[in-house]
Amino acid sequence: MARHFAGPKLVVATHNRGKAGEIRTMLAPFGVEIVSAGELGLPVPEETGMTFEENATLKALAATRASGLPALADDSGLSVAALDGQPGLCTADWEGPTRDAMVGMKRIQDELAKRGAPDTDAARAATFHCVLALAWPDEHIEMVHGTLDGRIVWPPRGTGGHGYDPCFQPKGDTRTTAEMSDAEKNAISHRGRAFRMLVEACFK
Ligand code: IMP
Repeated sequence: MARHFAGPKLVVATHNRGKAGEIRTMLAPFGVEIVSAGELGLPVPEETGMTFEENATLKALAATRASGLPALADDSGLSVAALDGQPGLCTADWEGPTRDAMVGMKRIQDELAKRGAPDTDAARAATFHCVLALAWPDEHIEMVHGTLDGRIVWPPRGTGGHGYDPCFQPKGDTRTTAEMSDAEKNAISHRGRAFRMLVEACFK
């Protein structure tokens, strides 16, 4: 039985404004008072884990220890099958020091081109991952993992979403996630799925 979140205040343990915005929207119906790690000026922990789960855990624990409040961390990334799962845990690093998603998207396209990947769904298959970890000050943790399967497209399309959305087309759709409204993306996305699992387990 998962632990229920009794509120009222929650730290969203991310300095990524795109992720923080999506999480705020998804938590809005639950009347939770949200403050982000960025707003509290919390330090950014080093992501030394070997899995999305380990990194989400270390970010959630760092935020709850520093704030004394329950903390929700998101660790996410994009795995491209033809690149042996890369960028995976290094998805943010592929955006370069200025965290420019265009740099990361171009690198994926260049690596696929180098390997001669044809323009087919199978050759360009990719999966978005999102692990959410909710940690309490006593260091109890609840964790969920959501995924979204699709393919890499080039050139990038759309202005919605954030990060790698313009080059990712979900399976069964003709649009990239950057060509969807926020609500459409949340309904199918890795983060939306993880979130619904967490809500079922801890917020209802
Ligand atoms: P993290 O902040 O270390 O978890 O890194 C997440 C990486 O995955 C960043 O490069 C994000 O841009 C990317 N990412 C995560 N979620 C999404 C998404 O929903 N759309 C596009 N890119 C995402």
